[in-house]
Amino acid sequence: MESVYLDNNATTKIDDRVFAAMRPYLTNHFAHPSSSHLLGAKVREKIERARDSVAVLLGTSHPDEIVFTSGGTESINTAIKGVLAASLTRNHIVTTEVEHISVLNICLYEANHWRQVTYLPVDREGRLDLDELRRSFTDHTAIVSVMWANNETGVVFPIEEIGVIVKERGIIFHVDAVQAVGRIPINLRKLSQVDLLSLSGHKFHGPKGVGALFVRRGTKLHSLIAGGPQEGMRRAGTENVASIIGMGKAAELASIYLEEENTRVRQLRDRLEAGIIEQIHGTRVNGNREKRIPNTTNVTFSGCGAGKLLKDMEAHGIYTTSGAACTGGLSPSHVLMAMGLTPSEALSSIRFGLSRYNTKTEIDYVISVLTMIAKNLKTGVSLSLTASA
Ligand code: PLP
Repeated sequence: MESVYLDNNATTKIDDRVFAAMRPYLTNHFAHPSSSHLLGAKVREKIERARDSVAVLLGTSHPDEIVFTSGGTESINTAIKGVLAASLTRNHIVTTEVEHISVLNICLYEANHWRQVTYLPVDREGRLDLDELRRSFTDHTAIVSVMWANNETGVVFPIEEIGVIVKERGIIFHVDAVQAVGRIPINLRKLSQVDLLSLSGHKFHGPKGVGALFVRRGTKLHSLIAGGPQEGMRRAGTENVASIIGMGKAAELASIYLEEENTRVRQLRDRLEAGIIEQIHGTRVNGNREKRIPNTTNVTFSGCGAGKLLKDMEAHGIYTTSGAACTGGLSPSHVLMAMGLTPSEALSSIRFGLSRYNTKTEIDYVISVLTMIAKNLKTGVSLSLTASA
């Protein structure tokens, strides 16, 4: 087998139809979307259709609630910093210990600038204690920011329940839905508690460097980037036209493939998980197995270092990681440590992220290669050495 890509929580393959939709806007249709002539108007029209597609995927009837950004990180920065800047009296952020590094580093920055941050813990299965959430509020809480789905374990937080608790106190609620969009249904008409929601194009077979922030009408938010009047004065700068159009196409396709993510992709993930657990002694799945996005599993291989395991898998054309791509390196995952794993267990854990491009043949290949590798690692033989010999 040439290669098996199982790192879809880091990024996904761009869909050919997405690239085809983008191409003309990198070549012939290059006009500025704010130009008042016909060529500009045609580009503007395509941007608005992309906004419609993202709105449909998120289940909002108001496309003007979608603000295009340069990706998940910018959306999250705009949400948290924008809410704090717009609030004169509130300076407290509530978030969780298992957030993506983009959220954690904003919180670190804000804490260094005299704002207060509460980090909610999770249990062994990666779940939040909602009473802890209730207890965390003060009269100065400006925003609660939690992720919908964890990028390392796939564990899903109960967004509706959290939203009800947050809104009882009149606090702004931001959801980092970067790993959830395109993998589970999202209906912001029904989830009226969510004020802000971040997403990223490259996690659902769109291009990299483009994302969106859902801003519910009436939410008080300062713009992060000052300049022109683009995006309803909420994000200045000439639009990344081709990428926005690409993300619009990816959103349209994600709406169609949502069913497949939750059936075929889920079955493949479960097959991989069951195969690993049955075949390899001392393996354990991390995170609640019921409340998870359908494409992700995180497994601890006791007695096998993740670094070696990954190298040996790569020698057989299997690509995945030990955790978040953005954190890099092989230090123990903050997510797994927050769930109570020891550093050595965390350093023996691997994340597998599937997509609609994976097949049953690939998954069976991965199970058989992993079984052989794990057996050899436990007896001290490295396959990356034998493969390169
Ligand atoms: N939030 C989560 C949960 C993520 O997994 C990621 C990316 O991995 C981000 C935010 C950042 O998104 P982007 O890569 O578009 O900046």
